[in-house]
Amino acid sequence: MDVTEEHDDSFGIEVVLPDGGKPAPCCPHGPTLLFEKVAKGSKEGRRFYACSACRDRKDCSFFQWEDDKVSEARLLAREADNKSKQPPFTQQEYCNRFRKFASLPLDEKKFCQDCQVLLLPAELSAHSAHRSTAVSAAQLRRPSVLLRPLDNKKSNAQYLFTDRSAHFLLDTLAALGYRKVLCVGTPRLQELIKLRNLEQKHEPMKSLLLDIDFRYAQFYSQDEFCHYNMFNNHFFGGEASSAVLKAFLRESDGEKVVMVADPPFGGLVKPLAHSFSLIAQTWKTSDVELPVMWIFPYFFEPRIQEGLPSLTMLDYQVDYDNHALYKHGKTGRKQSPVRLFTNISPRDVVLPKEEGYRFCSVCDRYVWSLNKHCAKCNLCPSKDGREWKHCSTCGKCVKPSWKHCQSCGRCALPDHPCGEGKEGCFNCGSLKHKQKPRESGAARRGKKSTLCGPKQRVIL
Ligand code: SAH
Ligand code: ZN
Ligand code: ZN
Ligand code: ZN
Ligand code: ZN
Repeated sequence: MDVTEEHDDSFGIEVVLPDGGKPAPCCPHGPTLLFEKVAKGSKEGRRFYACSACRDRKDCSFFQWEDDKVSEARLLAREADNKSKQPPFTQQEYCNRFRKFASLPLDEKKFCQDCQVLLLPAELSAHSAHRSTAVSAAQLRRPSVLLRPLDNKKSNAQYLFTDRSAHFLLDTLAALGYRKVLCVGTPRLQELIKLRNLEQKHEPMKSLLLDIDFRYAQFYSQDEFCHYNMFNNHFFGGEASSAVLKAFLRESDGEKVVMVADPPFGGLVKPLAHSFSLIAQTWKTSDVELPVMWIFPYFFEPRIQEGLPSLTMLDYQVDYDNHALYKHGKTGRKQSPVRLFTNISPRDVVLPKEEGYRFCSVCDRYVWSLNKHCAKCNLCPSKDGREWKHCSTCGKCVKPSWKHCQSCGRCALPDHPCGEGKEGCFNCGSLKHKQKPRESGAARRGKKSTLCGPKQRVIL
């Protein structure tokens, strides 16, 4: 998903988080979310249920007004449809298949690329017209390389960590003493943890992958994978599956747990934050919070802090193998906008010097080389990796491309719609006369702003 920083204040669909009252109806992706259209000026909009996981109705067409009366027949049909869209095997069955597969001689190990499944000998004939490849022992340990990344632009594009980012995460967590990593939407991290354990050079780490992509179920045992939806905290395997998470979160023998989540960037922050706090509550033993790393673009910082106030954003740029734009910032290449949001103390997360990070002793955290400390603001102000500059009129540091605008009374892009947001004239900002904006609403909506946190657009 290509998400850009966008400021949108006229389009209002908000998620209403479940309050334990009436249960939401289910789509194939578990309980739906309740949305409310909030039109400007009117008090309450009509509410409706829609899929939590798919932002495109082409992927999941579920729609129901909150006050709709649904017939018994309709409910039964819906239930049958939901069932028909579940994985063909249970996690137990996937496990047994994997064991069988692993014991096959090398020349019988085949993977069907069209169906994205490991094939057992009895199934070969049914896939004979499909493209299949041989699977080496090494490939079997790297499902994120074997499986084709999902590229559904709107709901579920999979962006896999580069070795640089994956190893940075893993080394950091290991150095901080974590021995159990809850991988939420981070299949490549889970894979790396298991590979590292095989080296037998380090203290072993345990990991549990929670992901909606059940193709990964083929490669892991029941206590290593749960088919899970992070937008509604739904375990497709029911009680037995959520019990796996509960057991994993129990810290026996002093094994410290950390959660690392890398949700799809188009995902709505509010339900994600809600799910992550539910996971944290499951873990909670005292006043201490579950250590969390949430990987997400920097421009969602206000939204994330609204949902989970204890998280702070680090300067580390996370980059991805299969995303040309989200690359690490070295001269000439575009910098990745993706960052780590964490409740781990920022000074403890050592960012690599050789990649251009340094320690700021005033801020007590590692920052990107171009993020220069501003003595007036008393912080390292840059969010986007560029060097920001101080505006003495605004009394704060702003993006390098911004100029102070007298009529708006703040810094903005030189071509900003001047005067917007004030009562007065749209063109000159004068409060004595008024002129309606000539620019269309849609055009204005695409404009960038960091004064407000970006609103997230819900496409239905
Ligand atoms: N960088 C990660 C992959 C992130 S891509 C890595 O290299 O391991 C986003 C991940 O979230 C994918 O694995 C995708 O399958 C998963 N995902 C997408 N929607 C989800 C949902 N609703 N619930 C749980 N996982 C989801
Ligand atoms: Zn759905
Ligand atoms: Zn600083
Ligand atoms: Zn400043
Ligand atoms: Zn202006």
